[in-house]
Amino acid sequence: MQRDEQIFELIEAEKERQLHGIELIASENFVSDQVMEAAGSVLTNKYAEGYPGKRYYGGCEVVDEVEQLAIDRAKTLFNAEYVNVQPHSGSQANTAVFAACLKPGDTILGFDLSHGGHLTHGSPVNFSGKLYNPVFYGVKKETGLIDYDHVAEMAQTEKPKLIIAGASAYSRDMDFKRFREIADSVGAILLADISHPAGLIAKGILNDPLPHCHIVTTTTHKTLRGPRGGMIMMGKDFDNPFGLTLKNGSLRKMSSLLDSGVFPGNQGGPLEHIIAAKAVAFGEALTDEFLHYMLQVKKNAAAMAEAFVKRGYHIISGGTDNHMMLIDLRNKNITGKDAEQALVKAEITVNKNMVPFDDKSPFVTSGIRVGTPAITTRGLKEADMEAIVALVDEVILNYEDDTKLEQVANKVNTMMEGLPLFA
Ligand code: PLP
Repeated sequence: MQRDEQIFELIEAEKERQLHGIELIASENFVSDQVMEAAGSVLTNKYAEGYPGKRYYGGCEVVDEVEQLAIDRAKTLFNAEYVNVQPHSGSQANTAVFAACLKPGDTILGFDLSHGGHLTHGSPVNFSGKLYNPVFYGVKKETGLIDYDHVAEMAQTEKPKLIIAGASAYSRDMDFKRFREIADSVGAILLADISHPAGLIAKGILNDPLPHCHIVTTTTHKTLRGPRGGMIMMGKDFDNPFGLTLKNGSLRKMSSLLDSGVFPGNQGGPLEHIIAAKAVAFGEALTDEFLHYMLQVKKNAAAMAEAFVKRGYHIISGGTDNHMMLIDLRNKNITGKDAEQALVKAEITVNKNMVPFDDKSPFVTSGIRVGTPAITTRGLKEADMEAIVALVDEVILNYEDDTKLEQVANKVNTMMEGLPLFA
């Protein structure tokens, strides 16, 4: 068969873009060569509906071992009792949890999307907001911090079946213990979605949700630095029906409800090539090298936040405990959309993002979200953060000046020259 030059030229162009630019999207990272190799392996050819040892297809002996390794490594990494590595994405992990725990129309209490929550936590444009009855908690206007009293109040008045602790754009640690107290006070199931800070949590740098939350979901491709995908975990509440009436009054174990929520509930064949890549990434995350990487991600984010504040930028909550920050650009007289577009011209990639109490639409927004997982994988350190912030500032101050933006792009290319794509 003739090589598909059209597609491979595009892949090469994307590789060049990733190599020469500064990647500040908080949810992105660069996987290692061996993660990439596993993801591009012959395992993509295999059907394996079911779970290790209980498949609906023959010839699964090898992929059974692969999937079991992924499960075992994830259990060690997170000190989990139950793991399902099959969700194709973070969204599908959440879909499966909802399917296991809820009936359509049940109330869910999630973090407001415009305050930093995720689409799958009850947004009206997502299955979670269409199928269930979503209510929201948010941050305090004065501090930008989650208002736990408000969470407790909302729980008391709305009596949700499920509470979600987790965010896509929240730069502070979460108090999972407090969330559990609130959940217990109304008999709700508590789900932590740690898609963003999973790598930091795995290495003990942030609060661990597993001792407190009934169920934990994550993506595997953000701070965890694995292939794109999702995962579901349980800690001490494994196989404990929490004294709650589960779906349809069933007494089935939560683990089997979750497993069937994934397959056959909302997926068919698992992506065993991606599961192999997840296993490789978990193996990497178990090393001390990964601990040093995560510590550097956090140090870089703190240094970046400080540099932004020095230049008069308003970071929601004033700083960061993790790998990212949300910047309100209203005092800089530029929208998130214009900032994103100008930064892309200067080869700095960020995403526009709503900020708490935003007066602009999600297509325009008043803010940008930036993070350090990807640039830390490239080998950048605290001292480089000041220089990156200076470049971002130059773009924001001159966002309509294409010549200036081109000059910044040249500086960006020089900064990234010679830096390996992988740590
Ligand atoms: N949950 C949170 C908190 C996220 O930030 C994301 C992704 O951004 C997801 C779930 C969904 O992950 P995916 O894009 O893999 O569906």
